[in-house]
Amino acid sequence: LSERLGSVFDRLSRQGALSDDDVSTALREVRTALLEADVSLPVTREFIRSVQKKATGQAVTKSVTPGQQVIKIVHDELVNMLQGDGPAERLKIDNPPAPILMVGLQGSGKTTTSGKLARRLKERENKKVLLASLDTQRPAAMEQLAILGSQIGVDVLPIVKGESAVQIARRAKQQATLGGYDVYILDTAGRLQIDIPLMEEVAQVRDVAQPRETLLVVDGLTGQVAVEVAQEFDAKVGITGVVLTRMDGDGRGGAALSMRAVTGKPIRFVGLGEKSEALEPFEAERVAGRILGMGDIVALVEKARETFEAEQAERMAKRFSKGLFNMNDMKMQLDQMMKMGGMQGLMGMLPGMGKMAKAAETAGFDDLMLRRQIALINSMTKKERANPDMLQASRKKRIAQGAGLDVAELNRLLKMHRQMADMMKKMGKGGMMKQAIKQMM
Ligand code: GDP
Ligand code: MG
Repeated sequence: LSERLGSVFDRLSRQGALSDDDVSTALREVRTALLEADVSLPVTREFIRSVQKKATGQAVTKSVTPGQQVIKIVHDELVNMLQGDGPAERLKIDNPPAPILMVGLQGSGKTTTSGKLARRLKERENKKVLLASLDTQRPAAMEQLAILGSQIGVDVLPIVKGESAVQIARRAKQQATLGGYDVYILDTAGRLQIDIPLMEEVAQVRDVAQPRETLLVVDGLTGQVAVEVAQEFDAKVGITGVVLTRMDGDGRGGAALSMRAVTGKPIRFVGLGEKSEALEPFEAERVAGRILGMGDIVALVEKARETFEAEQAERMAKRFSKGLFNMNDMKMQLDQMMKMGGMQGLMGMLPGMGKMAKAAETAGFDDLMLRRQIALINSMTKKERANPDMLQASRKKRIAQGAGLDVAELNRLLKMHRQMADMMKKMGKGGMMKQAIKQMM
């Protein structure tokens, strides 16, 4: 996408004005990017509409190109939407013991996240945490949490066979109060799909525990499905936040935007792996970049601006490193030297440039000579410029006369040209050329 956007914005940036058409063209690409990132269709539409309104309503600032401005609006709007208000990772867990209810589909990562969260609260906030598994469906799930707890050094409510989820929730509350815990985390059972018994069970647990936070755990790799899950849980149980798991995978995290837009609930954390420390606060900037498929928005903006120059520099560097440095190139270099303030201006620039200027100086090069050389090149035919090797005596005489100079001067130019061509070739091999050329543009 970066490339696609890059070219669109590159074109935009050369037009100098931000018309409705420009914005629409750019936003078509953004729309594709959002859909590719698994953002749901209605949310994508809404997003595009809101950006369109903002983009076309805005005057083009002088300091940035229109393309950059559209990018910035898209990016800012995305961050804005993802972020909501306040630091998302701050859980309401004062008034101990504070219950946290973990809900979600089976396999979404509830148990893993319960462990991660317990570890985080213990290590970062110095909280005394109790973990309890309410997963009566699968005995292995209770074992899983018990093992997790011992690994991270967090207490786990002992398993009592035959209890219902509601009974376990009561016992957890009791234990948390008696044991002086700050927080207790209730890890519930999930189903592969949303069904009525699951929702009823979770709702009952909620009534008993009265959680301060109800966190919906969602697999970040699931796109559209995640939205339905979020809506359903929010409607039936009421959630206070979302944890997106598997954000370490290839998914683009579009679910984050959909979920935020549909439920209005903050995304608190992201799971970045299977290990118990792989949980991080949600960062809107990072996910925004990921959704748009740009690791770094700033880099893209820079790129849009520099594409043209970089391409040209690249082309030149490639030619020079092959030893293809003709009189046209030489003239361009000489013109650039003049533009940059002649020989004086050239000294002390890039290492490569400094070297070149020094070499020019030792060859007896000054500003007057610079102008003479330019005159000599101007006196050459197109063919001669492209291929200086074809210059024999008669041609040399004609060129020199045309510039009002003598042949000796032309010979110096040719010698100089050969030296420069050699140097270009060497520099090209070291990769320094591109930088040097870019600097000159
Ligand atoms: P539950 O059924 O909702 O309790 O899901 P689990 O916590 O048992 O997790 C299901 C699987 O997903 C396990 O193999 C976890 O290791 C894995 N998992 C959970 N969170 C993440 C995550 O953030 N990244 C990755 N790569 N795997 C995860
Ligand atoms: Mg589980």
